Amino acid sequence: MKTSLFLLSMLVFGALSLTSSCTKSDILVSPTVTSQIIDLPKETLSSDELTSLQLMREEEKLARDVYTTLFAKWRINVFINISSSEQQHTDAVLTLLNKYGLIDPVGNNAVGTFTNPDLQALYTQLVTQGNVSVLEAYKVGAKIEDLDIYDLKQALLKSDNQDIKYAYDLLSLGSRNHMRSFYGQILSLGGTYSAIFITQAEINAIVASPRETGGSW
Ligand code: MN
Ligand code: MN
Repeated sequence: MKTSLFLLSMLVFGALSLTSSCTKSDILVSPTVTSQIIDLPKETLSSDELTSLQLMREEEKLARDVYTTLFAKWRINVFINISSSEQQHTDAVLTLLNKYGLIDPVGNNAVGTFTNPDLQALYTQLVTQGNVSVLEAYKVGAKIEDLDIYDLKQALLKSDNQDIKYAYDLLSLGSRNHMRSFYGQILSLGGTYSAIFITQAEINAIVASPRETGGSW
């Protein structure tokens, strides 16, 4: 996570003109997701699981906050729609933090405020890029989803609790749909997106496949 965030920071900082991609998407949350997270067994929590939960709680908030801010700037519905999905994602992680009695790094923090300094810096960089143009805003969306898919994949490799894997799988599904959305928007404006965190082959496979409806997101 730290490595990927660092890499993203470097790229965003130094290459506002990087190419990107995406599509549309997002989803309505079902109350059954929260119930399922609560109902699955509470198992021993590893330090890796604890670390990833606290990171993903704020990383999902980062996505929500960036999209909320870019919607305010550009008034394009894809941003507000996906920000609504990210709200559900960050809420799902909060459900897990509460279930395991862990500290919530978000608390009552406002949009654009983060406990994790790397995410705080990343927020500023992504919003700065997204404010440049609509195309750059879509590329910011693709980068966030690229990062999320990567970080969730890494987190899943280090998680074995059923409730955590269930939630991370749903968050990943949502991110793939979001990538499809942003990627499509980028192409529609004549832009391109090159993979930063996951492989280009993975992105190609995601955007070539239909929007997923499994789960609630
Ligand atoms: Mn998400
Ligand atoms: Mn997303």
